[in-house]
Amino acid sequence: MSEATANLPDGFVEEVEARVGGRGFTTDPAEIEAHVTDFWRQIRGRSPLVLRPATTAEVAALMALCHRHRVPVVPQGGNTGLVGGGVPDESGRQVVLSLARLTRIRSVDREGETLTAEAGCVLADIQAAAREAGRYFPLSLGAEGSCRIGGNLATNAGGINVLRYGMARQLVLGLEVVLADGRVWDGLRALRKDNTGFDLKQLFIGSEGALGVITAAVLRLFPLPREIQTVWLAVPSPEAALALFARFRDALGELISSFELISGGGVAIALKNLEGVTAPLSGDHPWYVLAEVAWTFADGLEVLLEPVLEGAIEADLVLDGTLAQSEAQRQMLWAIRERQSEAMAPEGMVVRNDVSVPLDRIPLLLARAKELFERTIPGVRVLPFGHIGDGNLHYNLLQPPGMERAAFLAMKYGIQEGLCDIVAELGGSISAEHGIGRLKQGELARRKDPLELLLMREIKQALDPSGILNPGVIV
Ligand code: FAD
Ligand code: ZN
Repeated sequence: MSEATANLPDGFVEEVEARVGGRGFTTDPAEIEAHVTDFWRQIRGRSPLVLRPATTAEVAALMALCHRHRVPVVPQGGNTGLVGGGVPDESGRQVVLSLARLTRIRSVDREGETLTAEAGCVLADIQAAAREAGRYFPLSLGAEGSCRIGGNLATNAGGINVLRYGMARQLVLGLEVVLADGRVWDGLRALRKDNTGFDLKQLFIGSEGALGVITAAVLRLFPLPREIQTVWLAVPSPEAALALFARFRDALGELISSFELISGGGVAIALKNLEGVTAPLSGDHPWYVLAEVAWTFADGLEVLLEPVLEGAIEADLVLDGTLAQSEAQRQMLWAIRERQSEAMAPEGMVVRNDVSVPLDRIPLLLARAKELFERTIPGVRVLPFGHIGDGNLHYNLLQPPGMERAAFLAMKYGIQEGLCDIVAELGGSISAEHGIGRLKQGELARRKDPLELLLMREIKQALDPSGILNPGVIV
């Protein structure tokens, strides 16, 4: 037995092997490494064992075993989560339960507009399968090439189409869940209407692996948009971006699928550090909006869009702008937005955060956070971007030149606290779409209404009485 597996009960690995065979787990430290470090390599845990079941029955057998031996389990999908919920802690006792081998798309129903997928399906593969059937699965985010649908549902992921289609929880009709003790709840119903008691699936969606292991889901599909218009607009201020958003809503209503804000500094860094990206507009501007409108008709959208843009230019809400002329150009505009975090990485250590406020308070949030961080961390670059149409901003702070990486990283929790204070004053949320995980567990405990926290703990106790599912995450 290796030093690491000494943290497990006697004979545990053999019992695992008896249930799932040699392919169904690994104790090899080299293979484990990728499962205990987070996407941006800022959080590192330890684990003696990664479980790799291939079917729901195997997940159930492994959970029953872990439950019997009280072995703590960290469910993991694509490991792209940004709050440390999918990586084990430093105790060396938690085992990782990877869902990455449950990759079957069980069915696609074009007429019924549903797709049933196992938890380990990569999000981009689900989008492609829907498209192949002439339908659209709208969940879309920067990590879609590697995040997995089980992880998306466990975090109630948001992304760039929330405005029109809602968060992940609005895209689910049914779930299959393995409970903490290994029992399987088959809730894979494909019903749009089902008022038969509590909506249990919604408890598991957004529960970050702390209430049950999602093994499959029935997802909602939509008609495929045929015409998409993508606009890149330079705006003078966040206030102007919001006024522009109101004009878009008035004129184009539910045709708007995305409305994103990016700081001028963030765009400059993307142009500098991302390959194949060129400036969409000449000159430097303080802020940019990337918006998309789409419908199922083949053309005619431009005619609706033009007067909105002309009016906004006349009202000085837009300084300059361009319409994507090809799919390649559209992809490039989205790369500037979706690869913001990646573009910042070569500039130094980045401390990231994700918050939301009521829409009209976005300018206040931006002003107060900038003032606070520039005052308390001299030389820091504050580069927010995000889904302004949802009142959701991702806050990126770049290591000041001359400051040690470790010293800046050590400020992470202080930065988080300062931002959360501002957000609380403005009636916002300390996590808009990335969740609580391990990083914000302390903030949640401090700031959530005590009764809400108590109810959450009681739900946790009911579903996971021995506390083996993702201990230390959320509650
Ligand atoms: P993991 O990171 O593996 O796990 C996340 C959490 O879910 C963990 O707590 C884990 O224990 C739990 N979990 C995973 N699978 C299961 C399961 N089957 N059953 C139960 N629990 C499970 N998020 C957004 O919401 N919007 C964005 O726009 C967005 N953009 C991103 C861009 C980039 C470049 C990156 C790196 C991340 C981004 N994220 C975004 C965060 C992340 O991609 C999402 O949270 C994603 O949904 C996580 O999926 P995953 O499969 O990687 O989950
Ligand atoms: Zn986001």
